Amino acid sequence: MTAPEGHSIADYLKGYTDLGRLRGFACGCGFRTATWVLACPRCGSRDLTDVDLSGRGTIVACSVQHVPSDEFLNEAPYAYVVVELAEGGRITGWVAGVADPADLPLGAAVHFHPGYKPGVQFVQD
Ligand SMILES: [Zn+2]
Repeated sequence: MTAPEGHSIADYLKGYTDLGRLRGFACGCGFRTATWVLACPRCGSRDLTDVDLSGRGTIVACSVQHVPSDEFLNEAPYAYVVVELAEGGRITGWVAGVADPADLPLGAAVHFHPGYKPGVQFVQD
């Protein structure tokens, strides 16, 4: 199974690295996701439309990392997070400068912060 033209994971990733915007996908059945998918997990349709997301959301899970992977060597400590987006759907990302989980409580408002650093970075509002 190959991705329909214009719906490759490379194009998706390019959206928030090169273009500085957080993107997602919408299906005609009403399903929305912020994570790249080849087909709608609800109805199976492959007719997905790219949509720009506001990048605003709230923290629903948070884990402080003190021993990072090589890619995040200069960022520790930081929080690895799951964000519930304002438009619906969840996405994983990270928040810089968090040493204590109390500094980034569940429900905290965050927004997408495009930049040169790896991953999907969020900043607390
Ligand atoms: Zn669908």
